[in-house]
Amino acid sequence: MSKLPILMSIPRFNPTHNRPIFSLLQICNNCNYNHTYSHVLPPRFNQFSSLKKTNFNSNDFPPFFSTLAVSATSSSSIQTDPSSNSSSVAQTSESRRRRTKKSRYESPENIFKRKLDMCSKHNNLQEALQLYNSAKIDGIPLSIQHYNVLLYLCSLSAADTSSSSCFDSLEKGFALFKEMGVGNIAPNEATFTSLARLAAAKKDPEMAFDLVKQMKGSGVSPKLRSYGPALFGFCENRDADGAYKVDAHMVECGVVAEEPELSALLKVSAVAKKGDKVYEMLHRLRASVRQVSEETARIVEDWFISEMAGGVGVEDWDVVRVKEGVSKGGGGWHGQGWLGSGKWSVVKAEMDKKGVCGSCGEKLVCIDIDPKETESFASKLSSLACQKEKRAKFLQFEEWLQTHGPFDAVVDGANVGLINTHTFSFRQLSNVVNQLQRISPSKKLPLVILHRSRVFGGPAENPNTKKLLDSWWKAGALYATPQGSNDDWYWLYAAVNCKCLLVTNDEMRDHLFQLLGNSIFPRWKEKHQVKMTVSKSGLALHMPPPYSIVIQESERGCWHIPTVTGDDLETPRQWLCATRATRTRSKVPGKLSNIFATG
Ligand SMILES: [Zn+2]
Repeated sequence: MSKLPILMSIPRFNPTHNRPIFSLLQICNNCNYNHTYSHVLPPRFNQFSSLKKTNFNSNDFPPFFSTLAVSATSSSSIQTDPSSNSSSVAQTSESRRRRTKKSRYESPENIFKRKLDMCSKHNNLQEALQLYNSAKIDGIPLSIQHYNVLLYLCSLSAADTSSSSCFDSLEKGFALFKEMGVGNIAPNEATFTSLARLAAAKKDPEMAFDLVKQMKGSGVSPKLRSYGPALFGFCENRDADGAYKVDAHMVECGVVAEEPELSALLKVSAVAKKGDKVYEMLHRLRASVRQVSEETARIVEDWFISEMAGGVGVEDWDVVRVKEGVSKGGGGWHGQGWLGSGKWSVVKAEMDKKGVCGSCGEKLVCIDIDPKETESFASKLSSLACQKEKRAKFLQFEEWLQTHGPFDAVVDGANVGLINTHTFSFRQLSNVVNQLQRISPSKKLPLVILHRSRVFGGPAENPNTKKLLDSWWKAGALYATPQGSNDDWYWLYAAVNCKCLLVTNDEMRDHLFQLLGNSIFPRWKEKHQVKMTVSKSGLALHMPPPYSIVIQESERGCWHIPTVTGDDLETPRQWLCATRATRTRSKVPGKLSNIFATG
């Protein structure tokens, strides 16, 4: 009896429910991974095959199960005096819980798992395999977690083609997976992803893709990382159709491609001379990535200078339809396909303060955010903040804002007071507040958000600081966020709610901001964030640009592609400017189908 709960806790695999998984073994078989490993593996692996059948057969694990049996018996032998009071019962149950936890922590499989994790941390496959070998000898049952660490390390080592053991690692990885099948251990997302990486190391993107399909067929949801081996494998092989199939599968599974995937798809499309696909990828980059890395910019540049790019597009197009596309899309693009003809001129350019291209003279547009979008963003923010913060306190703040707002600007006090200084500077904060008041249309003070620990006690007690803070209190321009709160929610909500400027050098990339998604937050940030620099010549505020820093497609069919910049605000952003002479334009009904639904 005492063994039962422990046995039940071991992951069980029901082959009738998950049949497709094991057809993977067939895939491996087809790929010549079904040979007897004792023939090809180094001697250290040969002993593993003789131990295969040991998985999860309690008779084969006397040391492990006898330990557990003793532990279970000892815990069940704790006698509770029925006459004892409830507190002693609670104490007994607490000590029992602790003992169980301790015995679980010290169990051989947990010790093995912790050691394996260390190998994973230090990328040490050899030691992991030695541990695995010892575990087999000691009869420690292997779980999915153990296998996943081993497979992960094998996939890393197999991908390292400079290492002489990459082939061994590849073989070992597949052998381990086969062993999982023998042991009826159901693979999970991490298992499949490591296997797909092994397939990629074998230069077999078809197999990597089959694994993702099998994964979905087994009810395991693929992640973005699961697709990488197949997608990048096809792209590397210049197999555009293969890559598009992976892309379509991702879309079907609701997995959103990011810059590396879109960039690879763009490159393979350019190489395969598929102009429509290049166009599609540029628009997908525009919609989801906005600003590209130097590497992606180079791929885009290579496309525009290619002979193929000079051959795509039409000389006559329906101007009305292009304008309609621009208006439906919200500005900055039309989605009607390549316009114009002939060779492109591609140069790196900078924009002036008004957004006029230094190379072609075209003015970039400012893409407004629909006020309704901002309102729904504010309510999303409020509900998220109420989940993450103390609800009552945050609602109190919302009420306070209703009474004292709106403001023309909100200041992230903690960030501004610490820019370029190790100790919090009220003087710097006050300087920013004064500058903002001067440029404010209503000459109103901005709202300063500070954590209460900065407002009460410590340096805040300095007479001059106290005077300053009092003046802000009296003007209703200071809010001290409560104990234990994360003030990020407060300043962000205030700025979104007031539809005003937000002064902070925080890049707003951490976990909290990731919760806000990519649909509106990056656009909102671009339009509202004011950054500051402190130099010998003083403090400077950097207002949001009057144009949108996003890939733009003009009504004439030229393109401007912004690259990401580092944290140095003084370094101007580089844009790729791709234009070509457009000789004729007409109102002839469009020859192009609308590639993107803009409605
Ligand atoms: Zn230009």
